[in-house]
Amino acid sequence: MRLILLGPPGAGKGTQAARLMQKYGIQQLSTGDMLRAAVTAETPIGLKAKAVMDAGGLVSDDIVVGIVAERIQQPDAERGFILDGFPRTLNQAQALDAMLIEKHMELDAVIELKVDEAALLDRISQRAKEMQAAGKPVRADDNPEAFKTRLDAYRTLTAPVSDYYAGTGQLRTTDGMAAIDTVTDAIDKLLTHDAKA
Ligand code: ADP
Repeated sequence: MRLILLGPPGAGKGTQAARLMQKYGIQQLSTGDMLRAAVTAETPIGLKAKAVMDAGGLVSDDIVVGIVAERIQQPDAERGFILDGFPRTLNQAQALDAMLIEKHMELDAVIELKVDEAALLDRISQRAKEMQAAGKPVRADDNPEAFKTRLDAYRTLTAPVSDYYAGTGQLRTTDGMAAIDTVTDAIDKLLTHDAKA
């Protein structure tokens, strides 16, 4: 199964992706996680991406598309994958379509988590607090200022990606404001009853 999870920062993509990964035995491919790993490892990509990520902006399409193209052909992604945080621009969505055609892969569904914007900053702040309390590093972009930039990037650059998949007939939306388990059940229903409808 190959899925895309769409939604604003703080929508719960990572949480749901982890559950889908367990349930279907497919890989969660989070471009945010991959980029953060590159930053920590101080690879050339990481060194390039750090400042823009910390500020809440988007890393260039070329870099991200390159990372994904390489990642989806690793053996552990053979059974399928959930793309979390990609595609984030129209350009990336088109590049993904081209790479899927080239690799003879098909998407099963694009699932969008709809969340009230007013709830997002609270969720992000909560995540930062929980990480801190657990003694884990807090993401450099989980602060109100970078969050504003992330939300702006989402509105202007990523929202059109939903329209793109609505146009191809692949988009399924669900209420991301519901409780975590309820969202999981809703996604499950979309995948079992509806994904090919
Ligand atoms: P969020 O919680 O905002 O969804 P992510 O963990 O998905 O955060 O991504 C963190 C940051 O990594 C983004 O703000 C951006 O700088 C960079 N990033 C992740 N995915 C992409 C992408 N597909 N295109 C460009 N930049 C990306």
